[in-house]
Amino acid sequence: MSKVYFTNLKSKKTQSPLNKLKKIFLKCEPEKFYGKSQLVAIKTHFGELGNTAYISPIYIRPIVEVLRQLKSNPYLTDTNTLYVGMRTNSVDHLHNAHFNGFGYSTLGIPIIIADGLRGENSLDVPIEGELLKSVKLASDIVNADGMVCVSHFKGHEISGFGGAIKNLSMGCASREGKLEMHSKTRPSVHQDKCTSCGRCLSACAHDAIVIKPKAQITDKCTGCARCIAVCPENAIGINWDETVENTQLKMAEYALGVHNALKGKIIYLNFLINISPACDCYGGNDEAICSDIGFMASTDPVAIDQASYDMVLQRFNGKDPFVEIYPYLTPEIQLKHAEKIGLGNRKYELVVV
Ligand code: SF4
Ligand code: SF4
Repeated sequence: MSKVYFTNLKSKKTQSPLNKLKKIFLKCEPEKFYGKSQLVAIKTHFGELGNTAYISPIYIRPIVEVLRQLKSNPYLTDTNTLYVGMRTNSVDHLHNAHFNGFGYSTLGIPIIIADGLRGENSLDVPIEGELLKSVKLASDIVNADGMVCVSHFKGHEISGFGGAIKNLSMGCASREGKLEMHSKTRPSVHQDKCTSCGRCLSACAHDAIVIKPKAQITDKCTGCARCIAVCPENAIGINWDETVENTQLKMAEYALGVHNALKGKIIYLNFLINISPACDCYGGNDEAICSDIGFMASTDPVAIDQASYDMVLQRFNGKDPFVEIYPYLTPEIQLKHAEKIGLGNRKYELVVV
């Protein structure tokens, strides 16, 4: 059984929600995870432009303070998106992060987009999964000495809810890895949008694109997804053809890869606030589906997601609000599979702080 520390948002003059957040973080004994001069990734999501439900940088500050006191060397990080948007490449991604309040000026630590300029910096990490024997992760996640995984707990159209497992998997995979979770087939070119400019041809390291007269992707394609990010016409499409069940299974296996790569040196923080119906990747967010609940901390990603899920369900007297929004989904798949492959425990002890 794993411990999950919880604090609600009720606060006094001397005990602000930020103090309470720091308290539950300290309960996880960060001194055992992060040492002097160690490069510690604070993995978060900077929120797509127009979205306001993402975790604000003010909540990152207490974490930075603790890491600084431990004399470790934290950096903020996320990975580029598979699809084309404001976080497709590191330059746009940094503009986006700054616009949403993340920056050296607010937190005093640098931002490093972990998978390189266009999501090409990917490392294979072996795992003992049921579907996958290795996962493709952002290199500056794999190379970190430890991680604090900061997750906004909210609804999600593929996994029902998104929490620590989602943040570890989709959030830490390289572009190639994200494609592997979402798709069974190689990308394809929308012939009507293609102008035959040849940029994708130059970007493809596998000689898998021919232009005749428009771009076409051949059998040589390895699914690295690099071409998607370079096309100025957004003409290269992703086939979102993996089932939602399999995507959840793969997510759990990718999360295991991150956990293994960092030798378990990860503390998880789930924020049960602004629980929006959909992902922070959208350029907007609907109103929250329930009132704010609080913060959780744990060293077990499965336990913290299970506890977060259970607490939301309690607010609805056991009814699942995520299934009401996404009736085609079974959110528990990710939890069950994650436990089965050894990522963590669904059984937990909730310690109220
Ligand atoms: S980069 Fe885009 S527009 Fe240019 S050739 Fe490739 S698919 Fe066509
Ligand atoms: S996905 Fe990668 S290998 Fe396939 S065509 Fe695009 S750049 Fe080439």
